[in-house]
Amino acid sequence: MGIAFKSASITPKNTQRRVVLVAGGAGFLGSHLCDRLLQDGNEVICVDNFSTGRMDNLRHLLRYNTFSFIRHDIIASLDLPVSEIYNLACPASPPHYQADPIHTMKTCVFGSLNLLELATLHQARIFQASTSEIYGDPQVHPQPENYWGNVNSFGPRSCYDEGKRSAETLFRDFHVQHGVDIRIARIFNTYGPRMRPDDGRVISNFIVQALKGEDITVYGDGSQTRSFCYVTDLIEGFIRLMGNQTTIHTPVNLGNPGEFTVRDLAEQIIAMTGSSSKIVQKPLPIDDPRQRRPDISSAKRELGWEPSVSLAEGLKSTIAYFERQLVRPSSELLE
Ligand code: NAD
Ligand code: UDP
Repeated sequence: MGIAFKSASITPKNTQRRVVLVAGGAGFLGSHLCDRLLQDGNEVICVDNFSTGRMDNLRHLLRYNTFSFIRHDIIASLDLPVSEIYNLACPASPPHYQADPIHTMKTCVFGSLNLLELATLHQARIFQASTSEIYGDPQVHPQPENYWGNVNSFGPRSCYDEGKRSAETLFRDFHVQHGVDIRIARIFNTYGPRMRPDDGRVISNFIVQALKGEDITVYGDGSQTRSFCYVTDLIEGFIRLMGNQTTIHTPVNLGNPGEFTVRDLAEQIIAMTGSSSKIVQKPLPIDDPRQRRPDISSAKRELGWEPSVSLAEGLKSTIAYFERQLVRPSSELLE
């Protein structure tokens, strides 16, 4: 295990607080989750190998004496006395998870196994950040949780898609064999502040390109669709799924059902930034899903959850975030 860091000052009023481990807490979603858990009065331990995560995402949390972080790769086992675990550790952007596919698979499988063993040891409730990618290039639209998917086991996306599918299986088997209290969110494309400018996913790419006046790179003809969820809506879904109001142990889709083509998205970002950028076409990546939209009936029914932030509102705050990022010195952006 690596370096632990603790800092002092803000103490929450709740003395019965839970100790929550957030694996992948220095990443985009993980850092927003740490914010929310700390605001709710929990003690939070962030575990991250800082492969795609950044210290910049955590710096504002160092004022909490209830926050600590450990530099650790979850493919190695760990032992910490925790009452809840969120497993968000895994690169999520295709260029990042494909850069070291073996490590991605190890993170999904060995990482999940290590955290499930930790949950078993401490009787901790455990959350898995699964993904809409487990549906592959879906032939059922929109995708309900009982759709088994259409996934290539032998392509560049397989390390992530099959890794996440294997993780779901491990979670299910720990629940059945050891009675572990599992929660699984199948997350659909989510965006917002704290994505890296070099993340490589479509919203961050298009906004950064538009702000810099560079060509907007649409892969293929741009007719493929995605459904984009704003980060605060998603985190609310995580908290409800991990709460006591539900005992659901099967996967739950979390995403915004609004569906847009990639070309629509490019045009909307150009209009909102007032950019002079031009749209250019680049080759469509292998096995790029043609369409994606969540059926969120289960989240509505079980959690009383549905997203409330429109794409226009979410893009506005994400654009403002990247505007601030792009004026910062490059040395700070590397952290
Ligand atoms: P991200 O890349 O910003 O965050 C991932 C974090 O995990 C980073 O901080 C990274 O350093 C850390 N990490 C990676 N491998 C690790 C390892 N072996 N050990 C310890 N830490 C490790 O991605 P994100 O968008 O915040 O995604 C978080 C989780 O949500 C991922 O598991 C991802 O698969 C899942 N997810 C995200 C989306 C989305 O649209 N954002 C969609 C579906 C699923
Ligand atoms: N995409 C694109 N240009 C980019 C990045 C992505 O056209 O610069 C496309 C990509 O081919 C896919 C969609 O946008 O069809 C969403 O890609 P992303 O990597 O954000 O997520 P995922 O493919 O995992 O849904």
